[in-house]
Amino acid sequence: MAEPGRRGRVVALLANYCWVQLDLPGPDGVRRLLCTRRTRLGKSGQTICVGDWVQVEGIDWPAGRGAVASVEPRALLLDRPPVANLSTVVVVVALAEPALDPLQLTRFLITAELSGASVQLVFSKVDLLPVAQVDQWLQRAAGWGYQPLAVSTAVPQVAASGLEALRQRLSRPGLAVLCGPSGVGKSSLINALIPDLGLRVAAVSGRLQRGRHTTRHVELFPLADGALLADTPGFNRPVLPQQPADLIACFPELRARLAVGSCQFSDCQHQGEPGCVIGAAWDRQPLYSQCLNELLAEQRRSGGGSRAADAGLRQRGDRLEPRLEARYRQLSRRGQRQQAAAELNLPDPED
Ligand code: GDP
Ligand code: ZN
Repeated sequence: MAEPGRRGRVVALLANYCWVQLDLPGPDGVRRLLCTRRTRLGKSGQTICVGDWVQVEGIDWPAGRGAVASVEPRALLLDRPPVANLSTVVVVVALAEPALDPLQLTRFLITAELSGASVQLVFSKVDLLPVAQVDQWLQRAAGWGYQPLAVSTAVPQVAASGLEALRQRLSRPGLAVLCGPSGVGKSSLINALIPDLGLRVAAVSGRLQRGRHTTRHVELFPLADGALLADTPGFNRPVLPQQPADLIACFPELRARLAVGSCQFSDCQHQGEPGCVIGAAWDRQPLYSQCLNELLAEQRRSGGGSRAADAGLRQRGDRLEPRLEARYRQLSRRGQRQQAAAELNLPDPED
């Protein structure tokens, strides 16, 4: 008796299997299936990534098993951790310990913007700063175009903690990945949002995860129906766009002004040139200038670059791989497949 295929989302990769969370529950409320990959999936070169939307066939409901028959085209792909179709990047920076560095924060925000996902800014360790200073940061970031939250995991009951507000925002359908510098409390935050994380990871891993190919990829946990959070933080080293001109799109406050007016010169770098709609008096102007000058210096250094550099590739060992700058962009389907194949390096099913 042939079961019709079911749509679901890959929430964890094991060596030869993956867990798929179904859109709709099956008989007896079965929501998660342990799936193999069909041979033709392997032959077509299609890889599976956590976050992928897939079609599951050959379902054995009582056993909770199935096989991934096809993968839907990806909208977005993050490479570290490998996560497809993410909808939100949560940038976490501490208000103190380590002290907040606006340039570093801006670099992380730029990196998050480059992913193509929506960006949620979170100030952590709110318990370490007087409320008035917390408010200053919140207002400042709101002026940049973000809707920041300040949280504490150490003292969640502290008046200013927006932990519950963050949980609510991340409970909307979608897939979120946390990122930010180390030591700011990302792991603490993930543990606070997914309280029984340790137990659940152990339960899912079990026997299947042992063996030679046990590279553990990111795993996605449901915060609410259709709302997933990656169990490991994303990039912890910020990157800048490849082209200086692309920097503008990474600043929401510039996007907003350019949406309602344009500069006198089409190649305006918005550094206070005559007829510039951005002007010179805006909060992050010095930070923008610093990033822009860095990009321009890099461009001069590379002097146009090789063909590989032009294509956004760099040599690594015996193969070309996308440069960091290109990794967080929205990719063409072909680009996605190549990138996934090159970078995920998923082990082939054995035995
Ligand atoms: P990660 O490197 O970003 O994952 O940061 P961790 O979650 O490992 O936390 C780094 C350090 O900051 C640890 O010593 C935590 O106990 C501490 N920490 C995390 N969250 C908070 C917080 O909300 N308030 C305070 N005071 N300390 C925190
Ligand atoms: Zn301008």
